[in-house]
Amino acid sequence: MDLLYKSTRNENETVTASQAILKGLADNGGLFVPSFIPKLEVSVEELSKMTYREVAYNVMKQYLTDFTEEELKNCINNAYDSKFDTEEIAPMVKAEGEYYLELFHGATIAFKDMALSILPHLMTTAAKKNNVKNDIVILTATSGDTGKAALAGFADVKGTKIVVFYPKGGVSPIQEKQMITQKGDNTFVVGIKGNFDQAQSGVKAIFGNKVLAEEMDNAGYQFSSANSINIGRLVPQIVYYVYAYAKLYANGEISQDEKINVVVPTGNFGNILAAYYAKNMGLPIDKLICASNDNKVLYDFFTTGTYDKNRQFVLTMSPSMDILISSNLERLIYRIAGENAAKNKDLMEKLVSEGKYDITEEMKQGLKDFYGNFGTEDETAEIIKNIYKETGYIIDTHTAVAAVVYDKYKKETKDTTKSVIASTASPFKFTRSVMTSIDEKYNDMEDFELVDELSRIGNVKVPRAIEEIRNAEPRHNTICEVDEMEKVVKDFLGIK
Ligand SMILES: *Cc1c(COP(=O)(O)O)cnc(C)c1O
Repeated sequence: MDLLYKSTRNENETVTASQAILKGLADNGGLFVPSFIPKLEVSVEELSKMTYREVAYNVMKQYLTDFTEEELKNCINNAYDSKFDTEEIAPMVKAEGEYYLELFHGATIAFKDMALSILPHLMTTAAKKNNVKNDIVILTATSGDTGKAALAGFADVKGTKIVVFYPKGGVSPIQEKQMITQKGDNTFVVGIKGNFDQAQSGVKAIFGNKVLAEEMDNAGYQFSSANSINIGRLVPQIVYYVYAYAKLYANGEISQDEKINVVVPTGNFGNILAAYYAKNMGLPIDKLICASNDNKVLYDFFTTGTYDKNRQFVLTMSPSMDILISSNLERLIYRIAGENAAKNKDLMEKLVSEGKYDITEEMKQGLKDFYGNFGTEDETAEIIKNIYKETGYIIDTHTAVAAVVYDKYKKETKDTTKSVIASTASPFKFTRSVMTSIDEKYNDMEDFELVDELSRIGNVKVPRAIEEIRNAEPRHNTICEVDEMEKVVKDFLGIK
């Protein structure tokens, strides 16, 4: 049976992998899920001798069933190359008995690079396969990290253009500098005089504008989305869990079939869902440990069975996890609802109308593989400091939330299963929070002084991504009002 993609909200919508990647979202707001989760076709023994690229091919080909071997290998080779600062792509570091899987060695030093460096290639290949003649225009609203990773991924990719809107004054100085210095003739970065929600709503309105879609088509363009619900972002994330397991085996850290736990700092639920898919492919993963910050919707969900977004939104030092609606959770809900689209749709509509939903006892049984907990701001700062003091290893704020939660898990359960912690950002991306967690004296230093100090005390080279922006000249200086966003896009594309 060939693997296809179906919608979590409509039993009758079925598409190929390449169509799912092009569409992003299913027709009635549903997400695309594979019609079944395939079993790993290669043994851990074989995987343990492979490079990252080879593992990627063997995992992804089972999901992207309408891509030819040549197409998929081209995508993989164009993505996981010298944009990463290590051959290993996703190296592992052992500190205090845990294994930190470093997912931040790509162009923007955060884990989003793992998927966003390949998505543009999957998308242009998918466009060719489906005889799409138009250029693909990616539109993104960003609160900081996604925008830069998408820009870096799509920069100079033939047949694509990318427009990123960010709230002027609403992102960190380093994040803004990363974006406005972005190279590539097909990139366009715009600050809006508004907040992130307004940027997001503006982008949604442009996506939904039928008149504009026709004008675009006449000019040889069509929109697509690079956000984390695209299956083209989920599938590449399964790879590094398989790779990590195979590496542990290759290095003699685990024996054959030995189970491991994975700990994931979670926001939109994409990263941990990929681990869940890896487990369901037969990878020996025991517990999926879901770490939240003070926005602990998921912790409450795993402990009570009620998902409730009606609460105060908290700004934390792990901003990429400051989320109250974890979009990718829908794919898990669909699965524990017995792949019943009507039942899932019902719950998702409740989330819109009431801001909350409850799952049944039966559905709760499907969550047994998960453990949820959260780390407070103080706990997060403290663990960064402690791990540094004890091992010399410096972790970022998001990874630190995961480390806090893993400590709580161990204390609660006495489980000694070896565990991999997904390390989702370089400490250099959140230098100020990281350094002031280690010592308050760093409060008085400038951003780039802190960068050099972090490099010195952690004994790690300043990543290229940071060196590049240190003296880079801004290339993008467009600022617009919220109601000018559509006009700005048209100007950029040369549409009258
Ligand atoms: C996006 C992000 C996360 C959250 O990942 P999800 O897939 O959204 O759960 C965690 N840490 C960092 C650094 C991120 O950029």
